[in-house]
Amino acid sequence: MCIFCNLLLKDGDPSFILKLNGGTLYVNHSQTYPGRIMYVLNKHLTDVSDLADEDDWWTEQLGGDIRMILKVLKTSFDCDRIDLASLGNEVPHLHFHLIPRYVNEPNFSESPWPHKKKLISKDAQAKIAESLRNDFFKMWPDYKYENIKTV
Ligand SMILES: [Zn+2]
Repeated sequence: MCIFCNLLLKDGDPSFILKLNGGTLYVNHSQTYPGRIMYVLNKHLTDVSDLADEDDWWTEQLGGDIRMILKVLKTSFDCDRIDLASLGNEVPHLHFHLIPRYVNEPNFSESPWPHKKKLISKDAQAKIAESLRNDFFKMWPDYKYENIKTV
């Protein structure tokens, strides 16, 4: 089982923010770009091209989930834009990096990679996770996780 499938099945990880219908949100251990998080699909697929016609439900959840969390991030971190990247070279389980960007960064007009990692503690990750979870439900108070499909 891949490391993201294991992470999805694990309880109490300090980076855990919230489980949405299509994917689960985690705070990245590097906060070079404040507010950087990750969205991990709740099902093991390697990339978007693996979504088959019968996976329409997943495609819809993915789009809805990403839209909601982008709006939350933008408000919570008051960033100027959010880079959205799906790589998967290191961990071939469909996931997106959501990377808030700020115009006052020295490299704002460039890709966020490579960059020097600014690692934070598990406690700091948990604080960001809690704050984003609260902000999510302020913005989307009626959101209900349906627990329809998982790994
Ligand atoms: Zn996996």
